[in-house]
Amino acid sequence: MSAGLVQAAYIVAAVLFIMSLAGLSKQESARSGNTYGIIGMTIALIATIFGPESSGFGWVILAMAIGGSIGIYYAKKVEMTEMPELVAILHSFVGMAAVLVGYNSYLDHGVILDEAMLNIHLVEVFLGVFIGAVTFTGSIVAFGKLRGVISSSPLNIPHKHKLNLLAIVSSTLLMIYFVKAEGSMMALVIMTLIAFVFGYHLVASIGGADMPVVVSMLNSYSGWAAAAAGFMLANDLLIVTGALVGSSGAILSYIMCKAMNRSFISVIAGGFGQEVSVSSDTEYGEHRETSAEEVAEMLKNSKSVIITPGYGMAVAQAQYPVYEITEKLRSKGIDVRFGIHPVAGRLPGHMNVLLAEAKVPYDIVLEMDEINDDFSETDTVLVIGANDTVNPAAQEDPGSPIAGMPVLEVWNAQNVVVFKRSMNTGYAGVQNPLFFKENTQMLFGDAKESVESIFKAL
Ligand code: NDP
Repeated sequence: MSAGLVQAAYIVAAVLFIMSLAGLSKQESARSGNTYGIIGMTIALIATIFGPESSGFGWVILAMAIGGSIGIYYAKKVEMTEMPELVAILHSFVGMAAVLVGYNSYLDHGVILDEAMLNIHLVEVFLGVFIGAVTFTGSIVAFGKLRGVISSSPLNIPHKHKLNLLAIVSSTLLMIYFVKAEGSMMALVIMTLIAFVFGYHLVASIGGADMPVVVSMLNSYSGWAAAAAGFMLANDLLIVTGALVGSSGAILSYIMCKAMNRSFISVIAGGFGQEVSVSSDTEYGEHRETSAEEVAEMLKNSKSVIITPGYGMAVAQAQYPVYEITEKLRSKGIDVRFGIHPVAGRLPGHMNVLLAEAKVPYDIVLEMDEINDDFSETDTVLVIGANDTVNPAAQEDPGSPIAGMPVLEVWNAQNVVVFKRSMNTGYAGVQNPLFFKENTQMLFGDAKESVESIFKAL
């Protein structure tokens, strides 16, 4: 394939990637968005593999066969609730790839005659390796936190912000030395180690409730790491694609920060400026329990019902019976709507995807801002497997790790029923005073079984 043809293919692929992002921004067009992305990536791969600069065709195919098989196996096997973990670990691969491309490009960069070009190349290598290394360890910590193998509470080592600053300053000095010395393996290796620790510390310092922002931020970093690799390999399409991923990830992080009333800078700087005190000895009083039959009776006597789903609905796969009771109640003339918190579940849009899968009509699924004022006129709220997203401590306790985060104000309704298995805390690890309020009753058990029992009783 000639160089001109490769460039033409790259332009077509870049346009398809932009169309893919546009498609993914709406539920109705998400499928076609995915298709554009797949076609774009296929064109990009064919053009790169058969382009004039490629060699070692057999090796590429072998690597793709191994990587592709592992990818297909995991993509098929992964549960919806494990999706963010998969995304986090995939980001770590992008980070590691950027580190390896950086080292490779440093060791074997071909002939560079111009000094200015050499300096640019060295800066590209240094920044690419730095961003890649931060993304690599940061994503591994995010993976561990999402999987529950690393505690979701923030790591609070003394002088943590000064240490972060030290990492940035020393890496900058090393970069100056690296460029001045026209390349130094020692500087590159020391910076890589610093960046690995920095990435680990940055994400470990962020508490559970801010993880959604971290995941989208790492998504953004992985894009910039890919763009840096594109510069090092002089591959225009990789630069464009990396920039698309990097900027869309940054926009998503910003939107999530706004939704959670968090400062963007504070989150990306490893929780800078957030001082929290977790008091575990607060007395909340007694909680009350209820049964599926009682809840069915309560629902029959209600005129308006709001369902606020959360991560537990995803774990229990309760969306199908939830759809059934919704239809049943609607057929009795009861107004049923859903209130969706922007970070409910474990990935952006998680609840919308589950409810769409179960065929719940879009028009009764409302965003938090659209429904929050309506709780006071609602007879019954069913909190199905949600916890942090309905926690009044976010408004009432300034010392809480989730203080300031907007929440669904379910407690303003006449009756609240919380579906969960125990009195355990949610992802952020904070107790929920909602469970002890006068108008709240707990329905313990697996959410799917509880909803099915209510359906039977109805
Ligand atoms: P939470 O994670 O706060 O709480 C979920 C609740 O579901 C738990 O308290 C659990 O209680 C219950 N549960 C678990 N399994 C079941 C089951 N089988 N049946 C019934 N209940 C069950 O959920 P929310 O959706 O309210 O909040 C999401 C949290 O996740 C936020 O803190 C958010 O910041 C964070 N997060 C969100 C991401 C996103 O992009 N949306 C990404 C990463 C983190 P019990 O064990 O007692 O059953």
